Amino acid sequence: MTKKLFAPPCGTGCAAAQMELFAAQAVAPAASAASAEFDFDAHEIVVVGDSGGKDSGATVHEVCTQADKAGQLDKVRVLHCDLGTTRRGHLVEWPGALEVARAHAAQYGVPFAVRRSKLWGSLWERIRSHGNWPGHFARFCTSDLKTAVGRDYVDEVGAELRLGRPVRAGYAMGMRAEESRARAKKPVLERNRMSGKGTLRVVTTWLPIHQLTTEQVWEIHRENGIESHEAYDQGMRRLSCRACPLAHTDDLVRSAQLNPELFDEYAEAEEEMGRPFKESITLRRIIERARS
Ligand code: SF4
Repeated sequence: MTKKLFAPPCGTGCAAAQMELFAAQAVAPAASAASAEFDFDAHEIVVVGDSGGKDSGATVHEVCTQADKAGQLDKVRVLHCDLGTTRRGHLVEWPGALEVARAHAAQYGVPFAVRRSKLWGSLWERIRSHGNWPGHFARFCTSDLKTAVGRDYVDEVGAELRLGRPVRAGYAMGMRAEESRARAKKPVLERNRMSGKGTLRVVTTWLPIHQLTTEQVWEIHRENGIESHEAYDQGMRRLSCRACPLAHTDDLVRSAQLNPELFDEYAEAEEEMGRPFKESITLRRIIERARS
């Protein structure tokens, strides 16, 4: 039987894109799935994937608040998956996203880690190697640059603990039901058993802000003074890769206005690869709209 991996969070368009990856093999009901309460006693570590976006900020808040209440804040770690740069040195992610993620961890006093794919120097490199853009049916961006990185990090921390048995890890993500029908169907807690190269690990994926609305997410930020990325103030609704083929075209047009050099480089790649960035629209057209 093919075992699927859990999928760490991505800022945005990844949302719908990652859903199938979440359908990991269920081996037992999550400890407290019925009440949707995460069982800290049943896990050695809890990793929070943080892209630097608003949902990540709210997720770190929820996880740390609950962990603190349970007297187990020492189990929490925040992980940022670094997607690297383009050939010309432009960050694939929004500049400053990593720093925002770091601030989230610092606010709650938990360890912060940045990790990058061991196979790919950047998402750009992966895309150029593939010869096409990620899409709903080719989610190599998340599987290679996020899922695999999160899995390796769980193994890394598990090895540090020297348990002599598979580490039991919680993996918290900022997915919300409001974002898509696929996300709405996701359980808040899902126990998965994953095998891979090396140590076997048992992971419970946890969506602590699954039921929150966008407004509630911002409310948590306001009430708790949580740092958010300046791109939101510049009209972006979501924070993800600066150019994500799965993002809404309106967001891409705004991003192209804010990131003209990056979009020019992506548009050149689009022409070289002979593959449209999105089925519905090319990057050249997005850039034209951004300039009009
Ligand atoms: S391109 Fe980036 S933001 Fe879009 S789905 Fe892939 S990793 Fe996520």
